[in-house]
Amino acid sequence: MAKLLGKVIIKSNLYVKTGIRIGGPTEGLKIGGVDNPVIRDAYGKPYIPGSSLKGKLRSLTELKEGKYLDVKSGIHICKSLDEYQQCDVCKIYGVMGLTSDSSTFLLTRLIVRDTYLDEESITPEMRDNLEFPWTEIKTEINIDRRTGTVSSVGGLRNPERVPAGAKFKDCEMIFNIYEEGDKDLLKKLFEAMLWLEDDYLGGMGSRGYGKVEFKDIEVYWNKASDYESGKTALISDRKINEDWDTPAKLVENFIKIKEKLKE
Ligand SMILES: [Zn+2]
Repeated sequence: MAKLLGKVIIKSNLYVKTGIRIGGPTEGLKIGGVDNPVIRDAYGKPYIPGSSLKGKLRSLTELKEGKYLDVKSGIHICKSLDEYQQCDVCKIYGVMGLTSDSSTFLLTRLIVRDTYLDEESITPEMRDNLEFPWTEIKTEINIDRRTGTVSSVGGLRNPERVPAGAKFKDCEMIFNIYEEGDKDLLKKLFEAMLWLEDDYLGGMGSRGYGKVEFKDIEVYWNKASDYESGKTALISDRKINEDWDTPAKLVENFIKIKEKLKE
């Protein structure tokens, strides 16, 4: 029987290094609408859905672990409970397509919250150059290599994106620790964050979009007894990552961080 030993809370800021595009619903025939809008919150500002960030971290971990990917869905699916029990990807990010039986709980360790734009990161100077209050339209022209003219198929694209220099603040991830072995799974999350910095978030990454960096990272440990006493807090004596505030430093110093995950 699994028992929740505590929660690791990982706070960070996500810095956009090259324009990032996480697609939202199209605006249809709305006048002045963009044909490829980014996803927005209820205040009309772009945000990063937790599902997008989590999905990307998952896929990087799948690739790194050499997991078989389902051809239809493009994601890894554990096919049996035995497989799940050996599978770090599904333990961290959640299992798909399997149901629990009486002997196994299919627990998900990682929760990723939505992350919102820091308005101040879009400076007045940037705003002067943006097509919309928080975003830019990057016109891309597809050239037909035979004729040297604009291709008749998908020749002109106008994807909207959040500009380089933007910052999404207070990104929060929560990592549940159910058993001793889960502490080592946490390292795989930090590794995935590091892989992501040399990969991309959102769409059109191979065209240069979506480079992001995690900075100002703070890692806190709230153990089960803290919840019993009501003393959960994101305060300095709960911080367990010293001044290791980037994914690279978290991975490098993981042994010391792990030692602090005690009851
Ligand atoms: Zn799996």
